[in-house]
Amino acid sequence: MTLQETGTGTGHARWTFRLRVSATTEAQLMSEWGKCRWIWNEAVAKSRAVHQRNKATGEKNTCGPARLDKMLTEARTRNAWLRDGSSVPQQQIIRDFGKSREVRLIHPAHTTMDCAHCGARAKHALPLGMRTYTCTACGVSSPRDKNSARVMLVRAGLNPADVEGVRHGCA
Ligand SMILES: [Zn+2]
Repeated sequence: MTLQETGTGTGHARWTFRLRVSATTEAQLMSEWGKCRWIWNEAVAKSRAVHQRNKATGEKNTCGPARLDKMLTEARTRNAWLRDGSSVPQQQIIRDFGKSREVRLIHPAHTTMDCAHCGARAKHALPLGMRTYTCTACGVSSPRDKNSARVMLVRAGLNPADVEGVRHGCA
């Protein structure tokens, strides 16, 4: 806000400022929000299409942040009204979507067979009674559940070290 010397009191200036918010800024905010909502819906549709395609073809395409980011760039190129909006909240929507979707869409298979440390897959599933996962490839041992949780985090594109605050190399 720029306070201008108008000869009127501060109270009046504030009142003028408030008027500007409701008339212009609020309209802009609603407009930005409308664009963001459109992007979110596009991301939902895109993600759904990718997963249905995977189901039908057995392919393992992902709809991760990079792909969604590309989708946003293309959408902004195609649509002038979308390009008019600020790219910052639009990219934030993509990031939020990527996080929320990917975590839910992780394939749960093999989380007890994969090593969270080196990514190697054991030949056999760990028997339920065995509480410790020991990787035959890199030799790292970690509690079974912890290893599984970390495998899922890695699949979601998250760094388990960031999330859990654990030391690198399996506790
Ligand atoms: Zn390993």
